[in-house]
Amino acid sequence: MLRAVSRPMRDLARPRSLRLFSAVAGSEPAVKPEVIPTNDNDPELLKIRHSTAHVMAMAVQSLYPEAQVTIGPWIDNGFYYDFFMTNNTALQSEDFKKIKKQMDKIISKNLPITREEVSREEAKRRIKLINEPFKLEILESIKTEPITIYHIGEQNSEDTWWDLCAGPHVESTGALPKKAIELQSVAGAYWRGDEKREMLSRIYATAWHDPGQLKAYKKRIEEAKKRDHRVLGKKLDLFSIQEDAGGGLVFWHPKGSKIRSNIEDFWKDAHRRNGYDIVYTPHIANVDLWKTSGHFDFYKEGMFDQMDVEGQEYQIKPMNCPFHCVMYKDELRSYRDLPIRWGELGTVYRYERSGTLHGLMRVRGFTQDDAHIFCLPDQLTDEIVGVLDLTEEILSKFGFTDYDIMLSTRPEKSVGSDKIWDDATAALRGALERKNWDYGIDEGGGAFYGPKIDLKIRDAIGRTWQCSTVQCDFNLPDRFDLTYKSSEGTTERPIMVHRAIFGSIERFFGILVENCAGDFPLWLAPVQLKICPVTESVEDYCHEIKAKAAKAGIRVEVNRAGVDRLPKQVRNAEKGKIPIMAIVGVKEMDSGEVTIRRKGIGDIGSFSVDDFIANMLESIDSTKEYEYEGRMDPKKETPEEAP
Ligand SMILES: [Zn+2]
Ligand SMILES: [Zn+2]
Repeated sequence: MLRAVSRPMRDLARPRSLRLFSAVAGSEPAVKPEVIPTNDNDPELLKIRHSTAHVMAMAVQSLYPEAQVTIGPWIDNGFYYDFFMTNNTALQSEDFKKIKKQMDKIISKNLPITREEVSREEAKRRIKLINEPFKLEILESIKTEPITIYHIGEQNSEDTWWDLCAGPHVESTGALPKKAIELQSVAGAYWRGDEKREMLSRIYATAWHDPGQLKAYKKRIEEAKKRDHRVLGKKLDLFSIQEDAGGGLVFWHPKGSKIRSNIEDFWKDAHRRNGYDIVYTPHIANVDLWKTSGHFDFYKEGMFDQMDVEGQEYQIKPMNCPFHCVMYKDELRSYRDLPIRWGELGTVYRYERSGTLHGLMRVRGFTQDDAHIFCLPDQLTDEIVGVLDLTEEILSKFGFTDYDIMLSTRPEKSVGSDKIWDDATAALRGALERKNWDYGIDEGGGAFYGPKIDLKIRDAIGRTWQCSTVQCDFNLPDRFDLTYKSSEGTTERPIMVHRAIFGSIERFFGILVENCAGDFPLWLAPVQLKICPVTESVEDYCHEIKAKAAKAGIRVEVNRAGVDRLPKQVRNAEKGKIPIMAIVGVKEMDSGEVTIRRKGIGDIGSFSVDDFIANMLESIDSTKEYEYEGRMDPKKETPEEAP
């Protein structure tokens, strides 16, 4: 397993009231996520999914002779298969039962799954024989030989089916767990994602080792639905996507903006404390920058079109890297200047097809929490350790302390010398070892320009999300001719490191909303305190408290007196996911106190106004926020586990 769990220290001496203030308690009990395997950490599961995709295609073609096969890759939590229906129909979810029954039949027959190598010519001949035009296109895109074919069943028997495929597969259909396979949904998808090409029927399905895993997965989907950031985003008035303005562009409403600016302030502060300088760069620039960087050649379909500015072509930026490179070049650099660490919350725009857009998770404009480090080769390990430390510091502030980590090494096609690759890979490895983090290795999975570390976070319902990345780059320093003067007076190339911790603020925000189901930790909550007047006679007193709390920096609102009775005020505040309520009646006013209610916990007692504000401020600051994703049962007096 490649899991690294960081456990923040707990201060057990903290008074009880503070713990109650800062502990987050959603209205629902925290879900203990069942850890179910992923494609990354379970190659056997991958074989099951992939083999099941073949069985599904075989079943569909035996039931619907008009179905032509295209592609059927595995995806997170399952697989899909795209079919072209030559009679202009589309597959429906009503067909699932029939298809699954046919799949079960194929599985019960325990047909062998065998691999065959053929020449390109032979593959072409066979595809023509069965009239599968999409397969021919796939064959053309396969550049290597021999071509591998996977057969289900004995060739030339009645129960036989084959597909072009690189594998891997289980040995026979009987190895597939019928009761852990489910067809989930069907959707239209264009062949090759190209709206000018044929519309296909895409069946999404899932497959697991056993029915228990399928059940846990379905429970997770249900839980995820309740937490959908698109639904909560609207309900809590955090953000919107205005179709009139164009898809994939995010509008941050005042409440969402409060959370975002808190995240950004924290991010900037943490970076400054860790030796970064924060910079700003433009949103557009001459496209030549991306020609120099190579993005224009290799990444063009992800970029918006250029615009004419006085006869020159300007580009809205798809990434920030070239900007930091030209800033580096602005001065002659000496080895004494390095490392240089520049962080930027840089908003970039990428051309995503409308069919792929999804809430905040996939958008056309997003803000990277980007940074570039320019350093000497022998500084690299320390720099990577610094990045990993900062990553841990920042992610754990949001309750993410459980990581899957992958080190990706040199791919076949790459730039840079053997020595530079070996040294940089050793530096990344050394940094992971110094952090004492477990990690997996993706041999050959690095970018062509350098090795990298990717980090996935595990959320409260057990899903993993790719967020942080640290990538060495031996390419851009060359392309931009970045140099420094060494101690010997020679001119050398610095190593460039790209890194992001959230990845994108928008996407991270979406993950955060779903992780806490809208119950933001106290320091992030857009409204931290709601003052609820019991009667009209205390309204002025409530506003005095509000002024005091607001002056102390607490985000606070007062309900209008006499509109709703207290139980309804409390209910509304809880629905609005406001963490703390101060109840004020005549009794409280006379004694100069407030009665405090913590969402999901209930009354936690009366406090003088000054005491309460001081406690609340301390709670907001306290690192107790680490516990918010349900590591501790808030109703218990003692934490579940010792620090
Ligand atoms: Zn296959
Ligand atoms: Zn970069």
